[in-house]
Amino acid sequence: MRTVVVGGGPAGLMASASCAYCGGQTVLIERNEKPGKKLYITGKGRCNVTNACTPREFLEKVVTNPKFLYGALYAFTPEDTVNILESNGTKTKVERGNRVFPLSDKASDVTKAFVKYAQNAGVVFEQGNVTEIVKNGEVFRVVTNEKTYECDSVILACGGVSYPSTGSNGDGFKLAKALGHTVTAIRPALVPIHLKEDVKSLQGLSLKNVSVTVGVGKNSYTQFGEMLFTDKGVSGPVILSASSLINKINYVGTPLCIDLKPALDESTLDKRILSDFDKYKNKRFRNSLDDLLPKSLIPYIIERSGINPDKPVNSVSREERAVLAKLLKCLNFTISALGSVEQGIVTSGGVNVSEVNPKTMESKIVKGLYFAGEMLDVDALTGGFNIQIALSTGYLAGTNAGGNYD
Ligand SMILES: Cc1cc2nc3c(=O)[nH]c(=O)nc-3n(C[C@H](O)[C@H](O)[C@H](O)COP(=O)(O)OP(=O)(O)OC[C@H]3O[C@@H](n4cnc5c(N)ncnc54)[C@H](O)[C@@H]3O)c2cc1C
Repeated sequence: MRTVVVGGGPAGLMASASCAYCGGQTVLIERNEKPGKKLYITGKGRCNVTNACTPREFLEKVVTNPKFLYGALYAFTPEDTVNILESNGTKTKVERGNRVFPLSDKASDVTKAFVKYAQNAGVVFEQGNVTEIVKNGEVFRVVTNEKTYECDSVILACGGVSYPSTGSNGDGFKLAKALGHTVTAIRPALVPIHLKEDVKSLQGLSLKNVSVTVGVGKNSYTQFGEMLFTDKGVSGPVILSASSLINKINYVGTPLCIDLKPALDESTLDKRILSDFDKYKNKRFRNSLDDLLPKSLIPYIIERSGINPDKPVNSVSREERAVLAKLLKCLNFTISALGSVEQGIVTSGGVNVSEVNPKTMESKIVKGLYFAGEMLDVDALTGGFNIQIALSTGYLAGTNAGGNYD
């Protein structure tokens, strides 16, 4: 049994290793000089490789098609990921939110461990850009810029279209389409959000412990954590998650509200403001907010409040205080756009999962063709979930293509 795996990201590395450990002769073709180029930049160079939670908790973090991943996540769990890393020389640690990182804080150690795992299994690594795949009878022909491979099965693990400079530029979708598959609408996910309002003066300001609500009423999402302002809008963990939750709706014009004081209700916040005003009673309004807000946010809040900055603090009226408290509880903006799909941490959309067997990752259209990783129409929030999805689907595809899955 000979298998060609296209793409040397986490999905392809795990798929090829799993296939080879099942006894299948396996070639991994990657267009870059080395595999795992995207892995190097994950988790800000530290690689949040998985999340130490239960499969059930895991699936709650999957935004698109969680049910499809059920079999894969039970077949190859976050614990399996940690075991493989540790037994291939990369110790791990668990941080806030169950996020698993290499102990060394070096993403390169994660890549090294997966490459070693695949090499030990006997995977043959080849550099090449796959441009065409055809099936004649039972045999696949995989064509690269260099040569043509003949094989019994093919695993496509080409990633999505995000960060195309890493090699994942959507070519995998073309290969899948040419083999008869459909690809669902491609959308940016885990991406910065652009705002209608001008926030350039706040660019670079990072806010911790805020609560961000996107949308209104039943169709709203609230997330607590960290965010930051960019030249065109907002980004950071809370915002990236929000982008994935709204990318399938008509988000233009959707309200985005930042609660700067989520731990205080409006009346407690008013008391807090009053006590600050008392402390600074001989100052002007613009000099009375230093204990309440980051310095660079104060001029913006004052402008939005409409309160005269030069007013003596002791003459700020109760109504004006109420306006200020309201603003701190909901600094409101309007979404104008999401960042581009190339800027997204992951791609939402991909090979239609209704055309793929979730128990094996084999195509329901072409026998012997398998899919793994981000090129499938699945995506999750931040926290190590996306790499684990690549590894779990890669494992299922590899063991089944290798013909030895029980
Ligand atoms: C900046 C950034 C930070 C991230 N941080 C995290 C994180 O900390 N934790 C987390 O879980 N996820 C993170 N992600 C997401 C995660 O990196 C991806 O979900 C994951 O890499 C997907 O794995 P994959 O193997 O499916 O695809 P990829 O890693 O994209 O690999 C696909 C490979 O296929 C190759 N390829 C494509 N087409 C061809 C072709 N025609 N011929 C030959 N080779 C081809 C590409 O060169 C590429 O190497 C991050 C992503 C980015 C961009």
